Amino acid sequence: MTTKIGKIKDSIQDARSGRLMFLSHCILNQNACVRGLASQPAVIRELVDLLLKYDVAFYQMPCPEVTYLGSMRWGQVKKMYSNPMFRRHCRGIASQICDQIQTYRDNNHTVIGCIFRDGSPTCGLNCAAVEADEHQVWGGMVWHANPLQCFKETEGVFTEELKGEIKQRGLEDFQLLSLPEVEEAGSLQDALTKIEQAIKQAERLKIQKHESN
Ligand code: SF4
Repeated sequence: MTTKIGKIKDSIQDARSGRLMFLSHCILNQNACVRGLASQPAVIRELVDLLLKYDVAFYQMPCPEVTYLGSMRWGQVKKMYSNPMFRRHCRGIASQICDQIQTYRDNNHTVIGCIFRDGSPTCGLNCAAVEADEHQVWGGMVWHANPLQCFKETEGVFTEELKGEIKQRGLEDFQLLSLPEVEEAGSLQDALTKIEQAIKQAERLKIQKHESN
């Protein structure tokens, strides 16, 4: 134990920017991806660099798939994850995330939005992995299966549950953004451009609000 008494500061000013972005887990931990899908060794560096350029802090949401099935899992499609048990699991995470959004906003922080992962059956925003052949039977022994997937304009299961919770709590001005998980799910550069625009827009709104008070 130290005998030093902490100095009580006479100001609440500190180094924080007060800006946060909520991120799908694998953006900051590529080890969470289904094997074969990690596009970078550790993090999606371009996004990390962009957020740091604007002093935006990262809030890493839990990975719904790893916290349900573990890190040794097969790639699946939305139909397989769209079951009541996984949805309940996703709702639990969504509820915790909305608690976090609310508490930061209630204390004068700017929570800009959330960045999902296009292509994921769980975290897709603009597209998610679905079955390519609707007549194919999904189930049975995986070593006998040769399933085919494609990307469809639909949301992932977690995205649907988080959007539901956001709506229920009236947090709709929270921006929903995404990064593609793989090239086939979209352009990384286009996604980064939209995210940068969202950061600038949040800053403009904050300045307008400040000036009108
Ligand atoms: S996209 Fe979502 S479910 Fe898939 S690894 Fe990333 S955080 Fe986990």
